[in-house]
Amino acid sequence: MSDDEHFQSGAKKHLGQHFLHEKGIIGKIVQAVDPKPGDRLVEIGPGQGAITFPLLDRHGALTVIEFDRDLIAPLTAASKAHGALTIVHSDVLEVDFTALAAGMHAQDGKIRLVGNLPYNLSSPILFHALDHAAAIRDMHFMLQKEVVDRMAAEPGSKVYGRLSVMLQAYCRVVPLFKVPPGAFRPPPKVDSAVVRMVPRAPGEIGVQDPKRFAHVVRAAFGQRRKTLRNALNGVADSTMIEAAGLRPDARAEQIDVAGFVRLANLPAA
Ligand code: SAM
Repeated sequence: MSDDEHFQSGAKKHLGQHFLHEKGIIGKIVQAVDPKPGDRLVEIGPGQGAITFPLLDRHGALTVIEFDRDLIAPLTAASKAHGALTIVHSDVLEVDFTALAAGMHAQDGKIRLVGNLPYNLSSPILFHALDHAAAIRDMHFMLQKEVVDRMAAEPGSKVYGRLSVMLQAYCRVVPLFKVPPGAFRPPPKVDSAVVRMVPRAPGEIGVQDPKRFAHVVRAAFGQRRKTLRNALNGVADSTMIEAAGLRPDARAEQIDVAGFVRLANLPAA
């Protein structure tokens, strides 16, 4: 049986199912991941195996996390011709990546995440991964291009915001390539892009208190048009903003990641 024959055709919209079929794009993703012996690969949302089976052919073993019950049996059946597939049937947001990494006994204790993500869950999955960044070596994700643009944006850009600052504080974010809607069945309404994220080493992360940092960044971008002095009312006063080397009349979109880190690291007044 070919891989396709194991699967029924319909895609479930509420699960963000857009299945990749463009061989060139799939090849570029596998090339970007470039698995090495001993790597522990974990794919989020394998679907009908578009990326799964080429990765298995290349690497021999793979763990996948899939929420759609109807895909579990066909994935199991089709995987036999490709390699050792471990399927975790779960909502990815319920999966403890730190425990998963420990159970997979990687040499460096870390997993490598891959996924053509369900776009309706992009941000929650990214923030969930951040919570477990110490157990993740790197991530290669297909997302809406607009989200990748926001993730990688620099201060001063129109799309620089909370997502940019939160992700860049903890990871190096590298956009890799754009993917047109026609590469998927059914095609999504928007362009997509593949991005690489590499969690920073503990010594490279300046954030001292992650909760405080998240709070400051959320407040600063809560009202983009306001000055820092006003947006941070009740969170940090003008003296603190100045002590962090920032201007109280600046706006959040002008402040670089290091500026937010300095501000959040100051003892609260
Ligand atoms: N990797 C496949 C491909 O590239 O063709 C499928 C990608 S499709 C965009 C997203 C996949 O994520 C689907 O298989 C969907 O069932 C799965 N998914 C959706 N929500 C999920 C969740 N909460 N946890 C795990 N998987 C989920």
